[in-house]
Amino acid sequence: MQIEARSSAATAIAPGAGPDLPGMTEAVRRALGPALAEKIGLVLIAGPPGSGRAATLRALARCRPDAFAAGELGSRRVAEEALAAARGRLVLATLEAADSIGAVGRLTAMRIEPFSLAFALRLVLAQRLVRRLCQSCREPVQPGNAVTAPLGLDPGGVVYEAGGCAACGGSGYAGPAAAFEALPVDATIGRLIVCGGEEAAIAGHAFRSWPNLAATARTLAVTGQITALEALRLIKDAQRQ
Ligand SMILES: [Zn+2]
Repeated sequence: MQIEARSSAATAIAPGAGPDLPGMTEAVRRALGPALAEKIGLVLIAGPPGSGRAATLRALARCRPDAFAAGELGSRRVAEEALAAARGRLVLATLEAADSIGAVGRLTAMRIEPFSLAFALRLVLAQRLVRRLCQSCREPVQPGNAVTAPLGLDPGGVVYEAGGCAACGGSGYAGPAAAFEALPVDATIGRLIVCGGEEAAIAGHAFRSWPNLAATARTLAVTGQITALEALRLIKDAQRQ
């Protein structure tokens, strides 16, 4: 199947229309669509051990049959081979890193040539596993200030807790999901990578336009896909980076 149009890639990852990537917000989906519609370049899926990178790689490879899935970029040699392959086709790969900015830092630390990286890299998709609330029995609650403030909720705002019903076997949860952070590599980020890849500068530019992991966690909590406690855990994790 040929890649036909940018809109088709966006549709391919819409809920119910392609591989199931639960936990992906609309903003992340918007960033992913154009990057997958490019016929040439490298899309990286980054996350710590146990974050489900391989599952996301398989899901994305299924919706872009023309793309080449390179697997884990565990060494400089493999990373250089993936970059070379990305000169002629779309390459999907995974990398162990704390977040999307950290993935760029890891490749730079492997002494990957910055110009090659900036030229090839289209998108970094960072992810963390979360527990998805069962939508049939989740229970709305009004949390206190300790929860509303870090989540950016107005006082009186609603979040959700796990309930328990026949659909979820009484657990209150409907399986794992991933919280995503997208870093589309535009011309400015490409220049920052060539200039040394200073992490604060890349984050400062990228997350003005796109949600980072903490912002995604807030959205997932406010929309009732994960509990507030799960979101706070992700936010704390992101602040530790
Ligand atoms: Zn349930």
